[in-house]
Amino acid sequence: MTQATQPKASHFVNGAYLEDTDGDAFDVIYPATGEVIATVHAATPAVIEAAITSGRAAQKQWAAMTGTERGRILRRAADIIRERNHELSVLETYDTGKPYQETSVVDATSGADALEYFGGLAASLTGEHIQLGEDWVYTRREPLGLCVGIGAWNYPTQIACWKGAPALACGNAMIFKPSETTPLCALKVAEILHEAGLPAGLYNVVQGMGPVGAALVSDPRVDKVSLTGSVPTGRKVYAAAAEGMKHVTMELGGKSPLVIFDDADIENAVSGAILGNFYSSGQVCSNGTRVFVQKGIKEAFLTRLSERLANAVIGDPMDPETSFGPMVSQRQMEIVEGYIAKGKEEGARLVTGGARLNRDGFYLEPTVFADVTDDMVIAREEIFGPVMAVLDFDTEEEVMARANDTEFGLAAGVFTRDLSRAHRVAAGFEAGTCYINTYNDAPVEAPFGGVKMSGVGRENSKEAIAHYSQVKSVFVRMGDLEAPF
Ligand code: NAD
Repeated sequence: MTQATQPKASHFVNGAYLEDTDGDAFDVIYPATGEVIATVHAATPAVIEAAITSGRAAQKQWAAMTGTERGRILRRAADIIRERNHELSVLETYDTGKPYQETSVVDATSGADALEYFGGLAASLTGEHIQLGEDWVYTRREPLGLCVGIGAWNYPTQIACWKGAPALACGNAMIFKPSETTPLCALKVAEILHEAGLPAGLYNVVQGMGPVGAALVSDPRVDKVSLTGSVPTGRKVYAAAAEGMKHVTMELGGKSPLVIFDDADIENAVSGAILGNFYSSGQVCSNGTRVFVQKGIKEAFLTRLSERLANAVIGDPMDPETSFGPMVSQRQMEIVEGYIAKGKEEGARLVTGGARLNRDGFYLEPTVFADVTDDMVIAREEIFGPVMAVLDFDTEEEVMARANDTEFGLAAGVFTRDLSRAHRVAAGFEAGTCYINTYNDAPVEAPFGGVKMSGVGRENSKEAIAHYSQVKSVFVRMGDLEAPF
């Protein structure tokens, strides 16, 4: 196992693996067993310098290539990722502990989708022509320069691609710093991009904790920062980026509402609640963790939910039958246990789960609390684990006010058979990504991101182009100029 997971070196810089053992060593732990499966070193100032200088040196020439040429390389990388889906999915499972049943269909695939999609768009990045009488203005869509991507640990391959693909398509270079908890997958993404023909220096991966990210964000040679992480980290990164007036994309946390009306199809609503709470053991930013159920179907919903949860196959994530795996780390498991204890203490009704599994690794049962009230900590704070809070409501007006009464605004969902109500509720949600009779879809074609404290900017779709490029206006005078003297 260690041979397959120990990378050739800690970093990937200027087209090759790079090691610097002067950097602090940290272990990569397989969440299903607690075993050390790799050790990597945090980037030293020398590694950071090499990443920045090689990125800047390569970027201008990359931007001067045609979009068709750039796009061809990205699409080739997408093809290689698809061909190596098994290998990448196994690595993602080792890195995160998520079941292979999930990683084999979602993670590398979603990364390949992004490379394919933005590879396709690269040739169509155009400006405008604006006529002003005889004179005219044209706009050029230009890259930003050197972008920094900083990742969370829940979707390491996907995040590395969701940031890298639009950045590269627009003619930028990127330095990606994965989460220190899951440092392995992004190195493979870098390796594959270069195998596909990406010139050296354009996609560098450097490892490390917060201070390495902070050093990158505050470097004046960096033009843009895209973070996927928690709100407290987002605040720090946004403030540091503001010092240098850098462009930012912030993909942060959430405490999203999922509203289920009496007239909903119960089986579909239960499926939505399961997908929106227990996929990836609940470690998904957009999860609908505040499940508001209209009083008329509350008990029926809870009964059916408990029956369905009893069918979860909890176990070895490499077993294709396993549908629910461990938490990513001991620390994350303990944080979530703290919230479970808080929920009990505050008087929520524990319907199912709530305990650690008696086995190695960081396993917690899928947990459901009912009779949760708006003021309870488990209804207000992001838990980022397999804990669902079920709250009841009477009217649409009431539930909308309660659903929006949060500092977060990443996602929101509604289950109902009433067409008008579905669209009215979606329009009323204060969230960047809304779902009607479904939950947690995130295809590359659709914008993804949050409002309020959940973020700034959008990933995916054509919207992402605006966040990795800038527009220059060029004025053209056809006749003679008149000046006052
Ligand atoms: P985190 O905020 O602890 O860390 C995120 C990344 O930021 C890590 O790579 C970390 O090393 C780095 N970092 C920490 N301090 C930094 C600093 N001062 N400067 C620069 N970089 C710094 O988040 P996490 O625990 O890794 O991930 C979980 C969080 O991510 C949750 O809140 C979750 O909702 C959020 N998330 C959001 C999305 C989204 O798309 N909106 C997706 C996945 C996860």
